Amino acid sequence: MRLIMVGGVAAGTKAASRARRVDPEAEITVYQEEPEPSISECGLPYFLSGTVAARENLVARTPDDFAEKGIEVLIRHRVERIDAENKRLSVRNLATGERFEDRYDRLVIATGARAILPPIPGVDLDGVFRLRFLTDADRIRAYVQKHSPKKAAVIGGGYIGLEVAENLHRLGMEVSLIEGANRVALAYGLEVAERVGAHLEEKGVRVYTGAKVEEFTGDRRVEGVRFGSDELETDLVVAGVGVEPSVELAREAGAEIGQTGAIRVDRRMETSLPDVWAAGDCVQTVNLASGEPAWVPLGDTANQMGRVAGTNAALGPDAEGALEFPGVLGTGIFKVFDIGVGKTGLSEREAEGAGFEVVSASIEAASKASYYPGAGRVFIKLICDSETGRLLGAEAAGDGADKLIDVCATAIWGRLSCPDLVNIDLAYAPPYGPALSPIIQAASVLSGKFG
Ligand code: FAD
Repeated sequence: MRLIMVGGVAAGTKAASRARRVDPEAEITVYQEEPEPSISECGLPYFLSGTVAARENLVARTPDDFAEKGIEVLIRHRVERIDAENKRLSVRNLATGERFEDRYDRLVIATGARAILPPIPGVDLDGVFRLRFLTDADRIRAYVQKHSPKKAAVIGGGYIGLEVAENLHRLGMEVSLIEGANRVALAYGLEVAERVGAHLEEKGVRVYTGAKVEEFTGDRRVEGVRFGSDELETDLVVAGVGVEPSVELAREAGAEIGQTGAIRVDRRMETSLPDVWAAGDCVQTVNLASGEPAWVPLGDTANQMGRVAGTNAALGPDAEGALEFPGVLGTGIFKVFDIGVGKTGLSEREAEGAGFEVVSASIEAASKASYYPGAGRVFIKLICDSETGRLLGAEAAGDGADKLIDVCATAIWGRLSCPDLVNIDLAYAPPYGPALSPIIQAASVLSGKFG
């Protein structure tokens, strides 16, 4: 049985490894366009600043490592066409330019997502970058080494833009963050967004909101960013304005695309094409809190989906023992300087959009016993369905936000309600938190609103 994966980062390599375990005899090949497979893209912002010093630490496994497991990984190979009817692929070797045909019995599409670089005048100037792959980070690092930029502009106040801003600041650059919307961290409610904006300013990052970039100026190299009547001098630009799913290959092969723009799959990660599965940032899933279609391009989710797709592709369609991927809560976290910022489930706006009548409560609490040295502050907001009391979403920002978000994600997953959270038995000792967890404190405030 010949099994092929298109794309070899989180979802593709996880699918290949799982398939190898399920079927030791299968012939498995991974086609990967970039020069390395298995890249830890989540570590790229920290590689820019040298916080992660060694490049090789961001490559979890090399083609030789995969070869030892009997998996062939062909890097710098792009699959250009899938002929789903005849189960054939057209492939180009990007190193030699050679084109050839391959065949498959079963296929996993794991083409991921790509960073958007908006078509703004001047976007092709030297010194204007995006950050998606290790090769992008290599280019930014080489530019920084050659030109020693003093001023950097980061376009976009989502989590990648915020992580990049922090890491360029660590390199000693004067960093400006430019966001088109009226606040940074747009995926979050206003209380969290304001805290993030204030924290950036406190750390010395200048934040411009409601600022739509109209032009990058300069001769050959970027020298400025123009938005509205403002023009900022800059020696380096990194755009983090969003990502889009890479679905062209699947679409041209006839695979159904969902309303989010990503590939439609069922719970077994099967596409609408026979013997073709898909996983990772290129696929649409379901938000379990709302039941609505969702596209959540995150690394942990890509791995989990890859596990399901790889297992099922190795077993074959309708096989017994097939795995299912139920959906996501969109749980995510990022660090910006001294604070963690995370969310899970639905924001207030999303919950209302999904037809819930919402009741919410927010508190700010000490992150450890208030008398314990090093106690910080943490903000938490809980969002519940007013009819049933079920927890629908949570957001947190500050010291220890990661733990709070993971507890809330588990609570939403388990369909717990606000009264459950008031009495939930969580761990306590002074160095780890206040006697009553901020979750319990917020749930108590919330329970008062139910009357
Ligand atoms: P990708 O990583 O996009 O990999 C797909 C691969 O397929 C690419 O290498 C692409 O070149 C290749 N490919 C595409 N088309 C073809 C083709 N036709 N032929 C051959 N190869 C092809 N997620 C988190 O959960 N937490 C984080 O903290 C986090 N931080 C991040 C920070 C940054 C800077 C970035 C860029 C991403 C971050 N992510 C994070 C997201 C995470 O990296 C992605 O969700 C994850 O890498 C998705 O894996 P994937 O395999 O689905 O797709």
